[in-house]
Amino acid sequence: MAQNIDKFMVQVKEKNPGELLFHQAVREVLESLGPVLDAYPEYTEACILERIVEPERVIIFRVPWVDDHGAVQINRGFRIEMNSAIGPYKGGLRFHPTVNLGLLKFLAFEQVFKNGLTSLPIGGAKGGSDFDPKGKSDLEVMRFCQSFMTELFRHIGDRTDIPAGDIGVGAREIGYLFGQYKRIANEFSGVLTGKGVHWGGSLIRPESTGYGAVYFAEEMLKTRGESIRGKTCLVSGSGNVAQYTVEKINQLGGRAVTLSDGDGFIYDRDGIDPDKLEWAMQLKNVRRGRIREYAEHFKCEYSQGKRPWAVTGAQCAFPSATENEISFEDAKRLTANGVYVVSEGANMPTVPEGVRHFITKKVLYGPGKAANGGGVAISGLEMAQNAAHTSWSRDEVDRQLLNIMVNTHRNCQETAEKFGTPGNYVNGANIAAFLKIARAMLDQGIV
Ligand code: NDP
Repeated sequence: MAQNIDKFMVQVKEKNPGELLFHQAVREVLESLGPVLDAYPEYTEACILERIVEPERVIIFRVPWVDDHGAVQINRGFRIEMNSAIGPYKGGLRFHPTVNLGLLKFLAFEQVFKNGLTSLPIGGAKGGSDFDPKGKSDLEVMRFCQSFMTELFRHIGDRTDIPAGDIGVGAREIGYLFGQYKRIANEFSGVLTGKGVHWGGSLIRPESTGYGAVYFAEEMLKTRGESIRGKTCLVSGSGNVAQYTVEKINQLGGRAVTLSDGDGFIYDRDGIDPDKLEWAMQLKNVRRGRIREYAEHFKCEYSQGKRPWAVTGAQCAFPSATENEISFEDAKRLTANGVYVVSEGANMPTVPEGVRHFITKKVLYGPGKAANGGGVAISGLEMAQNAAHTSWSRDEVDRQLLNIMVNTHRNCQETAEKFGTPGNYVNGANIAAFLKIARAMLDQGIV
C-alpha cells in the first residue's frame, strides 16, 4: 500500500504543484484507506480516489474595494466546491493573508470528510480571501464583504452551496455578506449559516465548534472511565473556537489555563474562569485587541512569539487556532509533560509526525475532522430550521449537538475497531467518512 500511496501522491503533486497543505491532507487520508480499498475493489475500479481529490469546481475572482483613504485595494476571492455526493456544498469562508488556492483545497478536502461524519446530508466546500480584517475599520470590512459577495452570489444558493464563517469571518462579516446577497439576489434565504439569531441564525451556532470539541474529548475520556472534571487543559487561539472551548471546559468542571493569538500566549495558572473569559471575549470580539492585554489586566504570564504546548501540569490539549500549530517537537513535549487527550478544534493543527507520535503513545487523539465537526453540524441544523421557517430552543440545539458528537465518536471508534486499529480515531474518521461518500459517488455514476 505504501508504494501505491507514493505513486498516487506523485500524480496529486503533479496536478497540484506547490500546494503542500493539500498534499498533506490527502496523504493523511490515503494512509488510512488501505484495508478499505482491499475490501471494496469496486472503489478502485470506479476511480473514487482520483475523483475525490479533484474539486468539482474552483472559482477564483478579483475583489476590488476602496479603503477609508480612498485608495483602491485588490484582493483575491476563492470558492472551492469540492464534493456534492451527499448534499449541497457546505463549508466556511476564511479571510486571512495566508489564504491561497492550496490552503483552501486542503480545507475543502477535510470538509468533505468532516461533513460525511456528521450524519447530515451536506457536501464539502471552502472559500475565502487573502483579505486581512485585522486593523480594518467596520466600513472597510463592509465594503470588502460587499465586493466579495457581488461575485460569489452567482455561485451559491440554499440548495447549491451554503458558506459559513472560519478564521477572520465571524458574526460581523456574515452579516455584511448576507446583506449584500439579499440585496442582489432579491431573496431572503438560508444561503449562509452563522447568521444573527434575530434574522435566521441558530442558537448555539457560535458555541458549537468549541462545545463539540470538548464533548468529543469527554467521549474519548469515557472509554477510560474518566471525564474532563478536574483536568487542566491547554487551549490555543482566542477566537470563536477557543472561546467556547474554554466555556465548555469550565461548565464540565475542567480548568483551562492558556489562550493565544498570532503574537503569543497567556498562561493563567489559576484558570480562565467565566468572568475572565467574558473579559477575553470582549477584548477579542468587541475591542479586537491582542491576547497580551489579558496578561496585563489579570497579572499572569505572557510569552511573546510562542505557543502554549510547553506548559506543564496539563492532561488535555485543545489546539483551536490554525493548521500545523503542533510541531513534532511540541507533540513530544506534550506527551512528556503528561498530556494524554488531544481534541482538535482547529483543522489539521498537528503535523503528520506529531499525529503518528500521539497514536504511538496511545494518546486519546481526536483529529479535527471528527472533533470539530460540531460547527458544521449546527450549521446543518440552521439550514433545517431556515427551510422549515422555524427556530429551536437553545437546549434543543445543544442536545442535538451532543448527540451528533456522541454518534461521531462512536462511529469513529467502531470503524477503527472493525478495520483492525482499535483506538485510532484518525483511521476511524477517514474510513467511516470515505465509505459514506464513496458509496454515494458509486451510486451516482461517473460524474
Ligand atoms: P477566529 O478567527 O475566530 O480565531 C482564530 C484564532 O487563531 C485567533 O486567535 C488567531 O489569532 C489565531 N490564529 C489564526 N491564524 C494564526 C496563525 N497563523 N498563527 C497563530 N495563530 C493564529 O477563527 P476560528 O476560531 O473560527 O477558527 C479557529 C480554527 O478552527 C481554524 O483552524 C478553523 O478552520 C477551525 N474551525 C472553525 C470552525 C468554526 O465554526 N468557526 C469550524 C471548524 C473548524 P490572531 O488574532 O492573531 O489572528
